[in-house]
Amino acid sequence: MVNSTTRAFGSPLRYIQGPGEFNHLPEYTAAYGNACVLIDSFLYPTLNAQLEKAYQGAETSFVSIQFQGECCDEEVAHISEVAKAHNASLIVGVGGGKTLDTAKLCSDTMGVPVIIVPSSASTDAPVSEIAVVYTAGGEYIGSRKMKHNANLVLVDSEIIVKAPKRLFVAGMGDALATYLEALACDRSDSPNYIGSGHRRCKAGMAIAQSCWDILFADGRSALSALEQGVVTEALENVIEANTLLSGLGFLNTGLATAHGIHSGLTALASTHSFLHGEKVAFGVVCQMVLENTPTKTVDQVMRFMVDIGLPVTLEQLNVEPTYENVMAIARKTADGPLVHQEPFLVTTQSVYNAILVADKLGRTYRGL
Ligand SMILES: [Zn+2]
Repeated sequence: MVNSTTRAFGSPLRYIQGPGEFNHLPEYTAAYGNACVLIDSFLYPTLNAQLEKAYQGAETSFVSIQFQGECCDEEVAHISEVAKAHNASLIVGVGGGKTLDTAKLCSDTMGVPVIIVPSSASTDAPVSEIAVVYTAGGEYIGSRKMKHNANLVLVDSEIIVKAPKRLFVAGMGDALATYLEALACDRSDSPNYIGSGHRRCKAGMAIAQSCWDILFADGRSALSALEQGVVTEALENVIEANTLLSGLGFLNTGLATAHGIHSGLTALASTHSFLHGEKVAFGVVCQMVLENTPTKTVDQVMRFMVDIGLPVTLEQLNVEPTYENVMAIARKTADGPLVHQEPFLVTTQSVYNAILVADKLGRTYRGL
């Protein structure tokens, strides 16, 4: 329980989403000056050409860097040098998690503004002020909290619609957890992720609930649009749910079992190739079992997850359901802080039991 009655809310300064928005980057960077733009290597040829066209005749200029390294201090030092040499007063990150996190770190280190441009709607990380840091060799070091959130999160739905379907579905898994975890944190009065951790504003809870509502209303239709490679209102709604609503939701309300199980699953090397949202999805099933969620909600969630192709069983995450494997996941989950945001006592044994029943529930809904 949080040790104060202070409530808090945080967010990026601005969020802009729409088709072709990346082409308007010069308008958004103009107020800050020259930009140093970090772009994922596989997107670089297309997006750099787009940028060159967009900046023609603009008052400010940009220097682009093809990012293929790690989100590490060495890379940050290198990018900072390039930015200074170009007289850049703004960092822009375009791409996946590591690129965006590196842009956040550069901005934090240099003390300059940052614009975040995600290339998929696969997680809610673009909206958070947290970066995951590695060594230059790719070993995980830990999470680092930035001094402030992004000045702008810019989402081009024409870019998102071209990203692989698996990423979009995983984003819905991450987003689906938001409201369930918000409710758990609300009931236990756990701290959110604003500053040193405070109570939830009503705004945070309303956003988390809206994320949930949009997924069930528009998730299937959005996926159809993505499969056809076209942008529709439903797709725009779910991009917003996966990115903005899920991100603001978790930052402002907190995380619980679904993300705790995600961390627990990382105890097994066989799960490492799975996406964040895929592991969180199985965590959602576990959280519902642990909390003894009403059958109607369980049924709604399970049908939705199976329908859009999110993993709901251990086998789908490449985990053999042996005693040793399930106990390893349960131990790592219960050793971490997130599962203890639930409003009741959680033990390694209760997590173990919940995982087994969740796996069985998943198999039943998959018709196995
Ligand atoms: Zn997440």
